[in-house]
Amino acid sequence: MQMMYAKTAAELDTASQELFNRTSEDDDPRLAYCNRVETFLQRGDEWLAVRRQNIITRGNNTNNFSEATMRVLKDIILKRTKAFNVVALVDFCSTVLQSYAVKRLLSFAYGRRADPRLQYAELCSRMQHISVQKAVAIDNFRYAVPSSRDDNMMYTVDAEFGLCACMRGMAGAFCKHQAFVHDRFNVPFPNAPAVTADDRYALAQLALGEKCPNRLFFSNMRDISMPEQSAGCDVTEAASASATHSAAVVTPGASEAQVTDASATVTAVQNELRQ
Ligand SMILES: [Zn+2]
Repeated sequence: MQMMYAKTAAELDTASQELFNRTSEDDDPRLAYCNRVETFLQRGDEWLAVRRQNIITRGNNTNNFSEATMRVLKDIILKRTKAFNVVALVDFCSTVLQSYAVKRLLSFAYGRRADPRLQYAELCSRMQHISVQKAVAIDNFRYAVPSSRDDNMMYTVDAEFGLCACMRGMAGAFCKHQAFVHDRFNVPFPNAPAVTADDRYALAQLALGEKCPNRLFFSNMRDISMPEQSAGCDVTEAASASATHSAAVVTPGASEAQVTDASATVTAVQNELRQ
């Protein structure tokens, strides 16, 4: 495990030395295992994290996508039965698979799936204590974002290709630094989860084509209040918004203005009463 998840080549060397130095005797029962690991090291590009950092996996280092696709095909499309011939198989794929894909796209478009929104809110919450002033815009697409733990360390975020200089972002996964730029600077990312009304509208257009309702149909109360928000998103707020879905969210700026107006009115009334 230490070898698999080693972040640098030095860490990998240390971990491998530690493993192989333990088995110095010929009759050691662990010798067979070490020989097996040594053989697998020749295919290290396939399973060592340190050698896969420059591959755009978008954070998914397994074959889960292909496994899931086969499960969908067997369980949902064919319902664990055999197609009688090739024509029947094509018919299943063109009708049942089509309607399944439309349903899946619409479940995201209608906001029935909370996981992308909660995942995004969780990433934002990790960077909530970082102020916008600490980040530097290098150009239209690149930003220098401070580390959440060390203010002196900066990560370069590329919004054009959805990349970051951190371990997760290097492989193209949507990391907290990219979420910071997406949230605070309102910059679109190719790998960002579908959390905005525009994203949901794009998914619905893909599913429904010309029959798709207009963009406003996919906006919720939270989206309407989003442009006015200056502070970052909040996990609690996201959770409550998803639970009530239609609850009006008052923005921090608006509430402050309302409080100021209310206090001014109270002062004016008090002055009138004194007179
Ligand atoms: Zn990052």
